[in-house]
Parts: sequence; C-alpha cells; structure tokens
Amino acid sequence: MQEKTIYDLLLWTVFISSILIFVVLFFIRAPYGRHYRQGWGLETSARLGWMVMESPAVLVMAYVFVIGDRTTHLASVVFFLIWMSHYIQRTFIYPMLMKGGKKNFPILLIIFALTFNSINAYLNGRYLFYFSAPYTTAWLTGPRFLLGVALFAAGFVINVHSDSILRNLRQEDENGYSIPEGGLFRYVSNPNYFGEMLEWIGWAVLTWSLPGLAFAVFTIANLLPRAWANHRWYQKEFSSYPEGRKILIPFIF
Ligand code: NDP
Repeated sequence: MQEKTIYDLLLWTVFISSILIFVVLFFIRAPYGRHYRQGWGLETSARLGWMVMESPAVLVMAYVFVIGDRTTHLASVVFFLIWMSHYIQRTFIYPMLMKGGKKNFPILLIIFALTFNSINAYLNGRYLFYFSAPYTTAWLTGPRFLLGVALFAAGFVINVHSDSILRNLRQEDENGYSIPEGGLFRYVSNPNYFGEMLEWIGWAVLTWSLPGLAFAVFTIANLLPRAWANHRWYQKEFSSYPEGRKILIPFIF
C-alpha cells in the first residue's frame, strides 16, 4: 500500500474515532486524576505517564521534519517551532512541575495516548513537511496564519496559566483538591481545557489543513466530556462551589 493511502486512512480514523470517543467519554470517564479508579490493569506514576505518552508528539514530529524536504523553508520551520513550543512544555516541563505526580496512572491510558500522539504528529508533520503544496513565506503574513497564531498564543497562555493556578493549590507531594480561584477560573471550571482547545483550533487555522482540523476536533471530543464531568465533580464535592461558574467557555457554556 502506498504511504498516501495509509495516510488518508489514518486521517479519517482520527475524525471517526473523535465522534466515538466524544460519545463514550460521557459514559466512561478516563481513569486518571480526580476520576482515577482501580481495575484498569497495570499502573505507573502520573509523572512518568505524562512524559512517556506525550513524547511521540516531540519525537515523531522531529523525525518527519528532518526526513521531509522542507527543513530550510521558513514557513515549515515556524510551524515546527509552534508545535514544539506546546509539546516541549507538555512533555518535559508540565510533568516535572506537577504536584501529586506520584499518583497512579493506568498503563492502558498511556498506550492509548501514545498511539494517538504518534499518529497525530505523523499526520500533521507529514502533511506540512511533505504532502502539502509548500507554504510560501508570504503565508506567514496572511490573515489565516495571523488569526491562527493569535488563537494559539492566547490558548497557550490560558492553558499554562490555568495549570499553574491548579499546581499552586497543592504543597509538594500533596494529592488533595480545593476550589481554584483567579484567572479564568472566575468564569469556568476548566480554563486549562479551554486554552488547550483554543490552541489547536488556532493550529488548524494557521496551517489551514485537514490534519490540523482533525486534531482540533479530536481535542474538543476528548476534553469537552471531561470538562463536563469535572464540573459536576466540583459541584458534588464542594457545597460552596461558585454557582455562576460555567463548564468550559466563559459566559457561554
Ligand atoms: P486537570 O485540570 O484535571 O489537572 C491538572 C493538574 O492539576 C493535575 O496535576 C491535577 O491533579 C491538578 N488539579 C486539578 N484540579 C485540582 C484541584 N481542584 N485542586 C488541586 N489540584 C488540582 O487536567 P488533566 O490532568 O486532565 O490535563 C492536564 C493538561 O493536559 C491540561 O493542560 C490539559 O489541557 C492537557 N490535556 C490535553 C489533552 C488533549 O486532548 N490535547 C488531553 C488531556 C489533557 P490530579 O492529576 O491529581 O487530579
């Protein structure tokens, strides 16, 4: 089978599996963090889990960048750096800083995420650095790129800032939960997920590509049901939980 055929199959698999996981995750919460429960097989620590499962997003993307034929194209280098800015943070910095990193994390989930991250990095990188018509330098001053970068940057700041608010709720080696305050937590229960979604919507816009769109759709399908579950969990756990706080999108949802 030709590589392009395999590529297209994988791309449509991401779109179709997004619909499936969107539905399934409303009924089965992924068993990590506050929704952790036993019975999902072998486990490791959350810190190691995050590093391992996110690492293909760095390694596979670096590999397809190098074997592509655009390592000297400015637009390609910029795409590569934007992707890496998120994934170096997520793979190496976020897990090192996390509190409660010794908590259990199912290896099954790591395998799922590792597989998805490998496919996703391949789909995005192979398209941008090989299959697509080369993006010109002028692309970088066009409206789609500029709007996409603005969304990505805003999402990145919101995501990292919200995760740091959560981190500061705990002392080192503490595992408990409290009500987050400040930042976009004033308006929603899951601003880190909101930021993450903005980032990948921005990525889809700035690359104006089907694999970018597939990743944005998958991220929404993955995080929206969990945001809903987290919000209900807060309301159940804390009788003083702020009533007006929305689930995910300030003032809207
Ligand atoms: P959570 O918001 O559930 O947790 C983030 C961190 O904060 C965890 O260490 C968690 O600890 C801790 N925490 C959460 N709530 C509280 C609280 N009320 N009090 C104290 N500590 C708290 O996010 P996830 O773990 O689901 O995701 C982590 C990051 O990864 C996010 O930035 C998210 O956007 C991103 N992500 C992206 C995905 C994608 O599809 N692109 C998929 C999943 C995550 P604990 O683990 O002990 O609960």
